[in-house]
Amino acid sequence: MSVTVRVPAKVNVQLAVGAARPDGFHDLANVFLAVGLYDEVTVAPADELRVTCEGPDAAQVPLDRTNLAARAALALAERRGVEPAVHIHIAKDIPVAGGMAGGSADGAGALLACDTLWGTGASRDELLALCADLGSDVPFSLVGGAALGVGRGERLTTLDVGGTFHWVFAMADRGLSTPAVFREFDRLAQGRDIPEPTASPEVLEALAKGDPEALAAVVSNDLQPAALSLFPELADTLDAGRGAGALAALVSGSGPTTAFLTRDAESAQKVAAVLRASGRCRSVRTAQGAVAGATVV
Ligand code: ATP
Repeated sequence: MSVTVRVPAKVNVQLAVGAARPDGFHDLANVFLAVGLYDEVTVAPADELRVTCEGPDAAQVPLDRTNLAARAALALAERRGVEPAVHIHIAKDIPVAGGMAGGSADGAGALLACDTLWGTGASRDELLALCADLGSDVPFSLVGGAALGVGRGERLTTLDVGGTFHWVFAMADRGLSTPAVFREFDRLAQGRDIPEPTASPEVLEALAKGDPEALAAVVSNDLQPAALSLFPELADTLDAGRGAGALAALVSGSGPTTAFLTRDAESAQKVAAVLRASGRCRSVRTAQGAVAGATVV
């Protein structure tokens, strides 16, 4: 018997970052949108905990107990007093270290898959609390749709989405480490007053209306200057997407994946074709959002 869970990637349509707190974390106001690029996490009984991974980025995924999927299985097993004797297989389509919460998706997927396999019957709130312990973006991977995350990004409020948004994602030929991007944010912030992060009412309104033009006018990512400082070539990719007709171009989360919001599916195909032809991206994908969170298939 095995259980497979499909989990989407995310893009941040707003990522507001506060000053570093004494514990080193940053308060965030994070507006997440789940988009249709998926990892599939399959769990099956085994003699002991084991992780395998397939996909274009598989070589970059750790297969030991630092893998977020393994940590999720261990956390649920300990909490429920069961043996974590399970083979976790990840079919990975979300870029690794791309700022699209791929590892978080696998953590949420493994948690839901193990809960189903073991029949632990954890409540939604219990699963969400375990997700929040695993990482700031993990609860959203479970919930999907669109949500505002505050605190470290993990305290979620579901948001209304009034229509489909069409995106293009361009993967870079190297990753960016999220902690390194936050360190660069702190360096750039020195001597400046950083306001409390708050959700933009205009972003929430544009999402609720399902209006891509209105959303494009207000998307924002406070980590973008730090990501561009560490990876200056991304600015050319953003320009290329704008030049091809994207309504908005931004770095996705901590990057280096770049995200392009387009008017419709046709425009997304055109932007994708131009970015592919530019030769500056490792791969280019189109995806729509919002989509559902972690789902047993
Ligand atoms: P976020 O958008 O949440 O900041 P990300 O998409 O930039 O994250 P991930 O793909 O989650 O980055 O990977 C970040 C690092 O986490 C990887 O370099 C890898 O070492 C580690 N990692 C742990 N578990 C996984 C996993 N299941 N899949 C991918 N990376 C993992």
